[in-house]
Amino acid sequence: MIDGDMALDVLNGREHLDPVRLREVKRAYSPYITYARNVFVPLTHVCRNSCGYCTFKKQPAPMGNIMGRASVMALVRRAETLHCSEALFTFGERPEEYARVRRELHTLGHDSIISYLHDLSETINDTTTLFVHSNPGVMEKDEIALLRPVTASMGLMLETVSQRLMDTVAHKDSPGKDPETRLATIRAAGQLRVPFTTGLLLGIGETPEEVYASLKALRDLHDRYGHIQEIIIQNFVPHPGTPMERHTPPTIEYVRSVVSVARLMFPDVAIQVPPNLLGNALTDIMACGVDDLGGISPLTIDHVNPEQLWPHPSSVPAMLKERLPVHPRFITASFLSEQLYEKAISRVDDKGYVHDASRT
Ligand code: SF4
Repeated sequence: MIDGDMALDVLNGREHLDPVRLREVKRAYSPYITYARNVFVPLTHVCRNSCGYCTFKKQPAPMGNIMGRASVMALVRRAETLHCSEALFTFGERPEEYARVRRELHTLGHDSIISYLHDLSETINDTTTLFVHSNPGVMEKDEIALLRPVTASMGLMLETVSQRLMDTVAHKDSPGKDPETRLATIRAAGQLRVPFTTGLLLGIGETPEEVYASLKALRDLHDRYGHIQEIIIQNFVPHPGTPMERHTPPTIEYVRSVVSVARLMFPDVAIQVPPNLLGNALTDIMACGVDDLGGISPLTIDHVNPEQLWPHPSSVPAMLKERLPVHPRFITASFLSEQLYEKAISRVDDKGYVHDASRT
């Protein structure tokens, strides 16, 4: 672990952590660098928020805002032939706040995107070998409870606890980015024992003190509920055509410092960086104790960062081990529904990683 003063010294660039210590903490957590073989399913690009860095969101069109069931299942079945294990549902938050989307959902027999996701997840669980990981944005506790039996894991980036950023270009038009609302979702997931992925977005105007406060808030929730399986440290990338296109991205040194502090604050949780956003610095950052690269897809692009292509697993300079969307420590009857637990243990070895025979 690391105390607050030392963490702030590192985050402010006044101190550097010993790489040998970081490697030891990482090795004690996992001997591997893990990843999930996934397919990205962008159920809708419509979102009630408008973040200053977003390229994903689209305004609602007269029709065609929601991926239909046939398209979703065709994509998932194609992923199955490529031995993917994760159907990653990432989409805009509460799109049903728009009348056009509401009408479309009604024709599909649903009144919310969460209800539609639940329906699709049931079909995927029952008829394919894939597991669902969902990132629907902020959720109420009853929505998480609805999804829990059919969704192996869920995620919501905390991004930051900075209330101040709610008045800046990053989050001023995004009610769902209110830190208290996001912490409430992560807390509810803990109360319902959902394996949960979260993390920080770096370089959107936060201070080192706010980075530490964000990590501490997640640490406190994990100490209380033990449900955080993964902390993602994601660097902001400026995209042309967005309000933050001229905003300076974070330095590699800054990203290194946050990854290092996160590694020591979370010796019992996977520390992930997105392999397609760090370019040549990936190896350098990974040396700060990273043990996970998240989802890598043989089939679909990263729809959130469409210019940044996935690396091929063989090009990543580390020994990679495939995991399910739910990390090995969370493949338990306590964290998964009975159906998902039975399905998961049939696909993993005695350490909880995907075994080769499950691909035949
Ligand atoms: S970043 Fe996410 S929450 Fe923000 S506008 Fe884009 S899709 Fe919506």
